[in-house]
Amino acid sequence: MPLLVMKFGGTSVADLDRIANAAEKVKREVERGYDVIVIVSAMSGKTNELVGWVEQTSHLYDAREYDAVVASGENVTAGLMALRLQEMGVPARSWQGWQVPINTTSAHSAARFVSIPRENLDAKFAEGFKVAVVAGFQGVSEEGRITTLGRGGSDTTAVAFAAAFDAERCDIYTDVDGVYTTDPRICGKARKLDRIAFEEMLELASLGAKVLQTRSVELAMRYKVKLRVLSSFEDTDENSGTLVCDEEDIMESKAVSGVAYSRDEAKITLVTVEDRPGIAAAIFGPLAEAGVNVDMIVQNISEKNYEGHTMAVTDMTFSCPTNQVARAKKALEEARAAKTISYDDLVVDTEVAKVSVVGIGMRSQSGVAARMFAALAAENVNIKVIATSEIKVSVLIDRKYMELAVQALHDAFALDVA
Ligand code: ASP
Ligand code: MG
Repeated sequence: MPLLVMKFGGTSVADLDRIANAAEKVKREVERGYDVIVIVSAMSGKTNELVGWVEQTSHLYDAREYDAVVASGENVTAGLMALRLQEMGVPARSWQGWQVPINTTSAHSAARFVSIPRENLDAKFAEGFKVAVVAGFQGVSEEGRITTLGRGGSDTTAVAFAAAFDAERCDIYTDVDGVYTTDPRICGKARKLDRIAFEEMLELASLGAKVLQTRSVELAMRYKVKLRVLSSFEDTDENSGTLVCDEEDIMESKAVSGVAYSRDEAKITLVTVEDRPGIAAAIFGPLAEAGVNVDMIVQNISEKNYEGHTMAVTDMTFSCPTNQVARAKKALEEARAAKTISYDDLVVDTEVAKVSVVGIGMRSQSGVAARMFAALAAENVNIKVIATSEIKVSVLIDRKYMELAVQALHDAFALDVA
């Protein structure tokens, strides 16, 4: 039997009517001749509520009990979905992570897959069951404790099952009808993409386009899982939505496929740092230890007349998420107190945002950065920091210009036309 994985996110199973709607979609695929593994999220809002209950009960909570509580949202949906399918005459049953079993590491709330043996589900399919409804986001550790994969983890569960069971496709049903050139809430001209390469999707996912959990895209890329994002609120067929696929399956790429942004960025500058071998390590080592996710880095080298004599000094600027600024400051001040680094001033700017253009076509087409900078200049947007990779150019700008910049770049690269 050909097999499909169908994943339904929180808004697609938000109440009993929506579960029934999702079950209809599953039934249709069964009628087309597929065995189906359905992966469900918790009903929307449920996981947040469960997390809240844990935090209200215990400030420094036991991570194992946190997972036991927050994994329960998916159990409810899995059972309800199986019941609904049975009511429709579809032979289905629910599976919690430990029953499959979905074996994971014991890194609670950030667990990774170890293995997903096929025997139990295969035996049920062989018995005549058409649908296995599996609770997403969860697994079981070697110690036999319930684990979770991190927020948004059901996407990753879906891709892992598609890989383990050689599924024809992994369909991710959500509340948007696909992946867009940019956020339609910011840019009215945003266009839905028919296809996007894994690598582009990875950049967009990690840059804050929240359609898919980043890890799910990494996994799909590694195992070449055909991944599709589509709406559970519309009538869909095998051409709906956006296919996330291998670069080779995309006929021709524009230089830029999408514009991403991230609002919660902060810029930190260490003013007048001694310019010597080892200084970057002395700064970024403590930041890494403090768990600060440093993103962009710029270093300016200059000879300065400093306290009466000429010496090589530099300003070191980097960006990190806004909510990590306090941690970053503490780590740097401690390093300064321990005399492993010295600086005159530490300047924090929390009013910045990152805007990026992404596209695999950049590898073969030149001038993308220049075109980006020209478009921003035409809108009088000042660029504070620049970073590039093979398929991405990012700039840090004042947050108040973020939406304007996204729109200007969308126009400059003509992303509204296919
Ligand atoms: N319910 C979990 C969350 O809200 C996992 C998921 O839906 O993907 O993060
Ligand atoms: Mg999600």
